[in-house]
Amino acid sequence: MTEKFSNDPRFAAIEENLKIIRESIAFAAGLSGRSEGDVRLMAVTKTVEPIYINHALSLGIDLIGENKVQEFLSKKELLRLDGVQAHLIGHLQTNKVKQIVGDVSMIESVDSLRLAKAIADVSKSRGITTDVLIEVNIGGEESKTGLEPSMLPEVLDEISEMNGIFVRGLMTVPPFDEDISKTRNFFSKMHRLFVDIGAKKIDNVSMEILSMGMSADYEAAILEGANLVRVGSALFGARQY
Ligand SMILES: *Cc1c(COP(=O)(O)O)cnc(C)c1O
Repeated sequence: MTEKFSNDPRFAAIEENLKIIRESIAFAAGLSGRSEGDVRLMAVTKTVEPIYINHALSLGIDLIGENKVQEFLSKKELLRLDGVQAHLIGHLQTNKVKQIVGDVSMIESVDSLRLAKAIADVSKSRGITTDVLIEVNIGGEESKTGLEPSMLPEVLDEISEMNGIFVRGLMTVPPFDEDISKTRNFFSKMHRLFVDIGAKKIDNVSMEILSMGMSADYEAAILEGANLVRVGSALFGARQY
């Protein structure tokens, strides 16, 4: 690992960004009748070098999100993950399930019955239960991963019969729109789904986590009921691919 000098301005920037994000979360949580502690902040660490991730962890970040199995596994050994949880938030191919089950505390991007079944099977064979979120394609975009909202009842019904998997909530990435009120509408629809499903008693399903909101829109997501926000570039700076 390259040692960076502590006067690397990026360290101070991350600290300053984190302060601002925490204040914004507290403010939006307050406006929605909740407190800062009701909304969990995830630091999205894709493309970010371990040295900067570790800096964020030293500042109290206790949840990170990675998109790619390979990237997470190759960085993992370099991260100070004591007391820190990691979630997979990117699209997961069925053939990579074996590599990641047991290595993250949650898979937020379950977008098909086939994937749910694969996660359940691998988990069962290892004697564990994997917590997941169902990713919903709330904008109905063809280019996006995520389950169509109309498919939710059927998929949850099938999952209720499986061992090795437990659904803790929903996740979404809404369509991008300059107009934040349109984005808020999608967040609001997600919250309705979250509440409606939560009211049903489905085995292996407990609506606890509503994961939505990224750097550009996490305040709006909190106003509409998100209790987990996934923030990358607003914390670490623009990504360099
Ligand atoms: C990259 C990513 C984020 C964070 O995006 P930012 O705009 O940098 O905050 C959140 N969620 C998912 C699923 C992502 O892929």
